[in-house]
Formats: sequence, structure tokens, C-alpha cells
Amino acid sequence: MTPVPPSPAGADPVVGIDLGTTNSLVALADASGPRILEGPAGGRIVPSVVRYDERGRPIAIGDEAREHAVEHPESTISSVKRLMGRSLADAEADAPFLSYSLVEGEGDTARVRLPEGGVVSAQEVSAVILGELKRRASEALGTEVRRAVVTVPAYFDDAQRQATRDAGRLAGLEIVRIVNEPTAAALAYGLGLGEKTPETVAVFDLGGGTFDISILSVIPASEHPGASTDFFQVLSTAGDTHLGGDDADRAILDLVVGELADSLGKTPRLTANQRQALRLLAERTKITLSEREEASIDLSFAGVEYERTLTRAEFEALIDPWVERALDACRRALRDAKLGASDIDRVVMVGGSTRIPLVRRRVAELFESEPYTALNPDEVVALGAAVQGAIMAGLKTDALLLDVIPLSLGIETVGGAVAKLVVRNSTLPARATEMFSTSVDGQTSIKLHVLQGEREMVADCRSLGTFHLRGIPPMPAGIPQLEVEFLVDASGVLSVSAVEKRSGKRAALQIVPNHGLSAEEVDRIEAESFAHAREDMQRHRVVDLIANGRLDLKWIGERLEKIAGDLDPGYRAEVETSAGVLRSLIEQAEADWSSVEPERLHSAKEDLDRVSVRMHEISIAKSLREDAARADAGS
Ligand code: AMP
Repeated sequence: MTPVPPSPAGADPVVGIDLGTTNSLVALADASGPRILEGPAGGRIVPSVVRYDERGRPIAIGDEAREHAVEHPESTISSVKRLMGRSLADAEADAPFLSYSLVEGEGDTARVRLPEGGVVSAQEVSAVILGELKRRASEALGTEVRRAVVTVPAYFDDAQRQATRDAGRLAGLEIVRIVNEPTAAALAYGLGLGEKTPETVAVFDLGGGTFDISILSVIPASEHPGASTDFFQVLSTAGDTHLGGDDADRAILDLVVGELADSLGKTPRLTANQRQALRLLAERTKITLSEREEASIDLSFAGVEYERTLTRAEFEALIDPWVERALDACRRALRDAKLGASDIDRVVMVGGSTRIPLVRRRVAELFESEPYTALNPDEVVALGAAVQGAIMAGLKTDALLLDVIPLSLGIETVGGAVAKLVVRNSTLPARATEMFSTSVDGQTSIKLHVLQGEREMVADCRSLGTFHLRGIPPMPAGIPQLEVEFLVDASGVLSVSAVEKRSGKRAALQIVPNHGLSAEEVDRIEAESFAHAREDMQRHRVVDLIANGRLDLKWIGERLEKIAGDLDPGYRAEVETSAGVLRSLIEQAEADWSSVEPERLHSAKEDLDRVSVRMHEISIAKSLREDAARADAGS
């Protein structure tokens, strides 16, 4: 038999969406693994912010809405996730953190009151964000995206989950599954893959404004046949809905404002724009201190030149109390799960603030385990949601397979090769179809040989049985259209059916495939799968680094143009050289991903990050000066 190329993959894709409090992302997993879907300008993140006009219509979403949030606090809606499925009484605790007002809506729900009197529900605001992600994904994939897996915090109750589903419906998206965020993060790392015994995983999620710790039990498929949905069990959750990187920014900002007050002899009065610019400076300083031992802060305010170096040790002393609060929540979660820290087998890090070295160190100490940090912590939830999406779509991603079927199932094709229809580790139930045709003129009967195994040739696989499809009218080779379907049901029984579409002739066979594997076979499969996993992980890393590196280059190119006059030529040349090194490595990796070691890409990216810090500071100082000049001119 001859394989017929499949129709374009992913005609009706299921994307993965991380609908976050601060930021949202959409991703897709296909045969090349999971990846974030970018917007037309290359942005990966959509800030979860929507601005409404005076008639209550959404007029700006994402970056555009966030950039002008300071000027339109009451009509710019952020953090709406905090209101999903909640009553006004529940939401009252969050009100002081929101820039807009809340009112009670129908069915005892908290709603947003717009300045001109309009009222919108949290579902409607979330639907605008989901709609933007849907549009972005549809454009990136060149097909309308209609189905998604969406993540929610593990502690979301039924009402909050239902509100998320309703938001999807309003956005024209069918939410095919709601997945817990920590489960998605674990999926992104392929946890559960080939595990022999249950594992306990802690997912530590520290973002900008919220902290969640979840303890999960990953139950291997071998102990849990046929139940893909209960593969991850949440043992306990804890957290703090107002703890995150924003607190670190505030600590630096308070330090700077306090020291400015000492120099001025009074507390400085800051305009909203100045405060925002200082907040950005504080955040940038914090981010620098994740990479370097010290960061310098320079600014001029009301005639005072403020200049100081903040060391990592000073910064760590500032943030120690809130890191301790996060660790307390971890201890609570462990207690609730009735586990000790040493019972945790793996720790997964999620959220931008887990890049802070002190956080990593303290988490590693507490759980006595080096945390997983290889994937971008801002993207890991969306990537995991995409893996779940691929499973729901019936696609088999080679990069991150979830298991249940111990060996791939396929059919013999021309030349003694094996076409795999259901790849190993697919979750049950699994279904796959593929088109074949004949390789000899006038063939009236086709033999179907069903095989199990990972190797490419029939001789190296295990035969499960053969059957014949007879009575096909004689046709030239390649004309018969033979559709073969494999269906593995929840208990692992394989049904193979074949239909010749032109004549309507059918044949079928039922087999229980995974009986009687020899120990050697299992060992060999494991060794092979291990080799694949490493290659796939490597590829995944390179792809991520290319995407992130491209973003850095774009950002730096724009800054270089904007502040060219403020840079001395020597420094400018230094930035351009580093950018050139990264660019040529990226181009090489784009041509052939395996030709570039991820470490080389990573260190070129780090070099560029390091060299460009000064440029960033110059850029911020310039915009601060401009703001101050504008404020002075206005007063
Ligand atoms: P998230 O809500 O997961 O997007 O996390 C956003 C938070 O992560 C913000 O407070 C960022 O300032 C913070 N963040 C991002 N990158 C870093 C970094 N390299 N070091 C420290 N904090 C970071």
C-alpha cells in the first residue's frame, strides 16, 4: 500500500489559552511541539486589559489599553479575572486594588461600572480578551479558530469555571476543556510521561499580583487505565491573591521616594505619569538584579540628581518578607496535602517573578529539589494548555506525548515500512485515520497488516494481525481511496476498520494490542523514547530561544533608533556587535535547528541583554526627564 499525504494538519485546531489576571497568551501544539502564537507585530503576550468608550464599547485591548491606563483609570478594565463568577460581597476585598468601580448586577454578581454609567460583566470583558486571542490565533494559523482549552486557577469554583465558559461562548469560542493552571504547567514539561510510579509535583506560580501554590499527584497511565481526565489530581492549593512582583517594584519605589524626600527635605509630589515612570524604573531595576549583582538607578527630579547603586543583597533584604509569605503558603499547602517537603518529587516554576534568584533559591531549599525553569515561566501555562488542546483535537504531538498506549500502532505500507497511526503515549480513547492507496494496477484485494512498535520497518515491529479488504473493482495503482481508521477505546482495545471509498467495500478487525509485551521490548521502547524526548526538548528550547531572541532584537533595534543621539558611538557599536552575533545565530538556527546548540543561543541572548541594560536605563532616564519637563511646563 502507498500512503497518501494527509490533508493539511490542524484544519480545526484546538488552541490553548492562558487567560491570566495580568496577561493572556494563546498557543498551539502540533507535530513540531507546542508554541506561542504571536500577534502581527510579533508580540506574544496580550495584557488582560480592555478600555471602553463613553458608549460602553470596547475600543482598545491589550498593550494599547494598558499604555493609556494612567490617563483613563475608570474606563480601563484590568484584573477582571478577580471578578469572574463572584458576587459583589466576594469582590469587595479586591475593590481597593482596582481603578474602576463595582456595582451589583443580576444574579448577585459583581459588575464593572463605567464612568458614563454603563455596566459590563466580567464575562463580557473576558470575552473581549478571548476574542482578541481568537483573532490572533486565526491570523497566525490562517484558519478560523473555534475551539480552545482554557486554563483557570486550581481553586476556581464551579461559578468561576462556568463564568469562564460563558466568556468563551460570548467570544465565539467553544471551550472544549477547562484545565487547572498547575496541571497545564506540569503538562508543558511532559510530566507524567512514562512515569512508573505516582509522582508528587508542586507548581509554584508567582506572577505580578498573585501567588498560587498547588500540590498535584501525577498518576501514571499504567495505574489508571483509560481515564485521561483524572491523570492529574490536585491534592491541595494555597496562595495569596495580592502577592507578587508588584510588591517588589513597590519596595524599590518606596526606597527611592524615601531617599528623594531626604534630599528634598519633603515628600515629593509625583504626577500619575511620574509615578508610572518610576514604577517602570523600579521594575527594570528588579529585572536587572535577576541577572546581575547590582543595578544603578539614576534620575533627576525637581533639580535633584538622584543616583545610587542597589545591590542584589539589599534588594533581597527588601523582598525577604514577601518571599517568606509565599513560603508560608507552601507550608500550608503541604500540611493540607498531608505531605512533607521531601515527598515532593518535582517543582515547576510558573510566573515572571520566579526568575528572581532569591525565589528560586528559597523554593529549592524548601522542597529540597531543584525547580524546573527551562521553559519561559510566563508561557508555560499556555504551552501546557496547547498540549491538552492537541490531545482534544486528536493530534499526536511528537514533542510532548501523554501516555497510555505503550507502543505505537500502525499499518504496513509499501516496501515493508510501517505507517504509524496512533503513536505511543497517546491518551485513551484515541482515534486516527489515514488515507492509503494501491501500488499495483488492477489490485482487487488489499491486505492490511496491523503492527505495534516504534521502529520504521515491519521486521522490527510486532505483528498484531492481518485482514483483507476484498472485492475492490480493478483500478490503476493509486486510484483506490482506502481510509483506514484506528480506534483504541478506553480499555485499550483496538478496532481497525478500512473502507474503500469508491466502491464502499469495508473490512474490520478487533485486537487487544498491549498484551504480552516482553520485558526486552518494553526496555527497548523506553530507551528509544528517551532519545526522542531529549531531541524534542532540545528543539523546543531552540525554537523558544529564536522567538525570544527575535523579540529582543526588534526591541533593541527600535530603542537604538529612538535614542541614537544619547549614546556614545563606542557603546552603540558594542550593542550592535552583540545584536549581530545573536542575529546570525538565529538565522543559522532557523535554517537548521540542530546546527546550533541551545546554550550558544542562550549565551548570545544573555550577552545582548547584559550589554543593552545601560541603553535601557538611558532610555528610561530620557523619558523621565521628558515627563518632568512636561510636568514643570504644565505647572
Ligand atoms: P506574570 O504575571 O507571570 O506575567 O509575571 C509578571 C511579573 O514578573 C512582573 O512583576 C514582572 O516584573 C516579573 N518579572 C518578569 N521578568 C522578571 C525577571 N527577569 N526578574 C524578576 N521579575 C521578573
